[in-house]
Amino acid sequence: MKSALIIGSGIAGLSTAYHLSKAGIKVHILESSKNLGGRLTAFFDSNSEETIENGQHALMSAYCNFLEIIENFDISNYINFQNHLKVEFFDTKGKNSTLNCGYLPGKFGFILGFLLLNGISYNSKKSIFGLIKVIEKNNLNINDLTCFEFLKQHNQSSEAISRFWEPFIIATMNSDVNIASARIFCNIVKKAFINDINNSKLGFANIDYQTILNRILQNLAKNGVKISYDSKVEKLEIQNNKIAGVHTKNAFYQADFVISTLQPFSLINIIPNEYLERFSYLNKFQYSPIISIYFWQNEKLFDNDFVSVLNSPIQWIFNRRKLIKKEQNFKYKESYSITISSAYEFMRMKKEELMDIIYNELSKLFPKFDKSKILHSRIIYEKFATILQSPEINQLRPNTITCIDNFFLAGDWTKTFLPATIESAALSGKLVLENII
Ligand SMILES: Cc1cc2nc3c(=O)[nH]c(=O)nc-3n(C[C@H](O)[C@H](O)[C@H](O)COP(=O)(O)OP(=O)(O)OC[C@H]3O[C@@H](n4cnc5c(N)ncnc54)[C@H](O)[C@@H]3O)c2cc1C
Repeated sequence: MKSALIIGSGIAGLSTAYHLSKAGIKVHILESSKNLGGRLTAFFDSNSEETIENGQHALMSAYCNFLEIIENFDISNYINFQNHLKVEFFDTKGKNSTLNCGYLPGKFGFILGFLLLNGISYNSKKSIFGLIKVIEKNNLNINDLTCFEFLKQHNQSSEAISRFWEPFIIATMNSDVNIASARIFCNIVKKAFINDINNSKLGFANIDYQTILNRILQNLAKNGVKISYDSKVEKLEIQNNKIAGVHTKNAFYQADFVISTLQPFSLINIIPNEYLERFSYLNKFQYSPIISIYFWQNEKLFDNDFVSVLNSPIQWIFNRRKLIKKEQNFKYKESYSITISSAYEFMRMKKEELMDIIYNELSKLFPKFDKSKILHSRIIYEKFATILQSPEINQLRPNTITCIDNFFLAGDWTKTFLPATIESAALSGKLVLENII
């Protein structure tokens, strides 16, 4: 029986373990921290007495590789998907609008929903449809373009960009429109709006992800997958261009294959000196932060599961009482979480300064909002939330196979042609199997 060591137990690590163990390979995962999940993690907030995540994660029904795993283990009941794409846009300038694709089935539902979307003029809508057609029909040579350059090249108005494309780009790529890669953008547009509009339904876990990932791990254990926590890999040992083993502080592990699912800045640290030159591209990666703000109060702000916010540094507000299954009596009646993607300018702010900005935005969106009613809040800064998804960095993303014979790469940032997401991480695990056999 062949054996594999997987470094890291995020989604990419679990997906790799799923595919390799299914193919009859003996799997051992080495994880540096005390928990699994990596960037999809949860922890207990002692004030609210609730488990919260490092940030609200949204899924799309297009996430077929991630969904395959949870369906296979019969835990898809932990995720609720919309019946059809529906997004309510709350605008700090008061021009609220709704994209509701549920009036008709399939593509026609999207067309009608989009035509009925207020806040965007007829001409802008025409140009948005025109661009979707261009993306559908052409194999565009746009590797070097940013989304902004591409959108301008295709005559998208400022209104079409700010009210439609920009929220879509920042939500899916965690990168500003003038930085994000047009190539990745076109891949997402194809998946979400062209191949099958049912792909664009949004889904949310109704329980914390630690529970979901632990269930995945329990099922993997039945296939013989083993995990060691607190096992930070410090160096790879390479002999004759093959990994002879990996060193942790207290142990040396060996296997036929070694798979890293580490982010580039961690991976470079375990590469031995004689190979550093060949992996030096890892130092060129840049990252895009996400800030999540959780707050609790007894007053209800809105009824929806979530809203997308326009004309604001905030992109999303999630209604946690609607999304999470009620299994307990909560200390505070209402709980919301806010996401700020591509959050560079806020990363150095102190909590009070950032909360003042949040209060200001909430007052513009909800006239009844009163900051003195907030009973508890918590900010989570994720500096390395995803890679920056610029055209230059997109070109650096490596294949699964490396220059070392039995060493493979997985992770959301590897070359999956998808934005760095849960789905990209899940797909990267499948690509490992395809390249090993
Ligand atoms: C706040 C936030 C919000 C997000 N929102 C969304 C969203 O809405 N939708 C979406 O699809 N994606 C979202 N993402 C992105 C998503 O979380 C990631 O794409 C995904 O979790 C990446 O998984 P991964 O396995 O590739 O990497 P990671 O989760 O980073 O896994 C790497 C693992 O390696 C471990 N490790 C590191 N160094 C070592 C070492 N030396 N030895 C052993 N182990 C090591 C780490 O502890 C970690 O467990 C979000 C990310 C953040 C941070």
